[in-house]
Amino acid sequence: MGSLLPKVILHEHIEGSVTPEMALLLAKKHNVSLPDDFLYPEGSYDKNEFPNGRYQYDETDFGEFVTAYDVVADLVRDADDYYLIMKDYLSRNAAQGMIYCEMITSAFHLCSQEDEQGKVTLNAAQYHDFMEGIERAIREVKAEYGTETRLQACGVRHLSLEHLNLSVDFIAQNPRDSIAGFNIAGNERAGEFADFIYVHELVDNIPLPKSYHAGEIRGPESIREAIQFGAKRIGHGIAAIKDDALIEQLIQDGITLEVAPTSNRILVTEFGQKLDHHPLRRLYEKGIRLSINTDDAGLFGTDVAKEYRIAEQVFGFSRVELLDVTLCGLEAAFVEDEVKQALIAQVYQCFSEEDWHELEMHAAALPDGALKSRLQNRLHHK
Ligand SMILES: [Zn+2]
Repeated sequence: MGSLLPKVILHEHIEGSVTPEMALLLAKKHNVSLPDDFLYPEGSYDKNEFPNGRYQYDETDFGEFVTAYDVVADLVRDADDYYLIMKDYLSRNAAQGMIYCEMITSAFHLCSQEDEQGKVTLNAAQYHDFMEGIERAIREVKAEYGTETRLQACGVRHLSLEHLNLSVDFIAQNPRDSIAGFNIAGNERAGEFADFIYVHELVDNIPLPKSYHAGEIRGPESIREAIQFGAKRIGHGIAAIKDDALIEQLIQDGITLEVAPTSNRILVTEFGQKLDHHPLRRLYEKGIRLSINTDDAGLFGTDVAKEYRIAEQVFGFSRVELLDVTLCGLEAAFVEDEVKQALIAQVYQCFSEEDWHELEMHAAALPDGALKSRLQNRLHHK
């Protein structure tokens, strides 16, 4: 593959990034005993595939995945824990060439409290304390690897509309410089985007750009609605492949899909745990802008290098196509323009003579369309 390919992650949930090794460390620290069948025993799985251990849950059972996720999220309890898990994820992926990363945070995971009447509130002092831990890891990884990281705040749609509104109020009242975008995550079947008008409008007023999870387990209409309410990026969005008019709209509006192959293989039932029918390649060839992501890297036993390798080996992406994917990720990043332009320039500098030649040949051979024109425009950066 030549020199280390620069990579971008736009979609990773902070608590989902916890590896089995890190979970064991946190359990020990907090004196928590984990369920017996929490991890696969050493020697029962391929250590090359899962260098940081492997969680044991039935990949065909979404409920088991959610249970494992909750056990892991519950181990992350203080500012130092957040520092540790961020440092771990960012530094391992930065060493694999990740030059830019966006992590999704949730105020509900960070600082929710329930009183005796069951009323939920968010604790601002705890939030800021934990965010300091997260931001310390971001600064250290930037100093060591040069990797830039920004955060998204996120509302969890299945917690109830009241909770969703509460988290957005909280985010508006507790701004932090590291928060560069807003996300709606959680079970896609809970509610409709049209139910969340208060959220869409408040986020526009903060203002924060939006990336919404859609078209992962629901159909194309969920992506249309996310765009209608202002999402500039779509978490997953793979259902777009079922709707040609929507594909055209995504291209016209310059919407970027944050695709996560391993996550989709495991969580999207219709793929039957295989990547054979995953539309990554087809979406790309239609000319849709997309980036490749880890989603819940710790839970799925993946990392940025593994996802790019899957794109290469399973979906046949060439080196220049992966460079294009990295550039699409940066062009859609929720980061200040100055930083964005510097990162984009850094990627263009990674193109060798051979890469430029390859890109030119490849673009020339493509049929007219969005992909061809995007790649031909990239040639002007030589
Ligand atoms: Zn996600």
